[in-house]
Amino acid sequence: MYQSLQAFKREIKINAKEYIRFLHGLPNRKSKGIASTIYSLHQEAYKKIDCGQCANCCKVMRPTYNRADIDRIAKHVGMTSQEYCDKYLGQDPTRDIMNRKSPCHFLDKNNRCTIYEIRPLSCRRFPNTQRKDFISCKSLNSLNVQYCPITYHVVKNLKRKLDDEG
Ligand code: SF4
Ligand code: SF4
Repeated sequence: MYQSLQAFKREIKINAKEYIRFLHGLPNRKSKGIASTIYSLHQEAYKKIDCGQCANCCKVMRPTYNRADIDRIAKHVGMTSQEYCDKYLGQDPTRDIMNRKSPCHFLDKNNRCTIYEIRPLSCRRFPNTQRKDFISCKSLNSLNVQYCPITYHVVKNLKRKLDDEG
């Protein structure tokens, strides 16, 4: 599928607008047919793409945290929750709490997450291609498709299938 992360980046640079338009044009209503196609594409993507070779989400995106994430991770690194927030976290315009900087401070040189077992819930759920309500997460998917080869695989092949069906 993608020879490298660089190949994905070249492809998405050309096609991003087309796929974002496609995602926003999907019907909001759940359809059993589309949901099962998306789930099959999600499983196929994980067979073709190795997150350990990629780690692009941890390099260029910033994970959000809920209160339990902050408390758990702060304790793990020997800080109070307030100290951890002051050192590493900030708020985006929608008031989500997230890493202030990227790459993530927990990503090591070998693309491994050094707090994998206790990583934030948003990291555990990423890239959300397994979600039953995938087609209604338009803004989220429009962002993820630009950085995540797994999301790209799902969106690209979903579009191809729906185009083929006319
Ligand atoms: S906590 Fe781990 S999985 Fe989440 S962004 Fe950081 S390195 Fe990646
Ligand atoms: S979830 Fe997506 S961006 Fe993150 S490592 Fe896997 S393929 Fe790469």
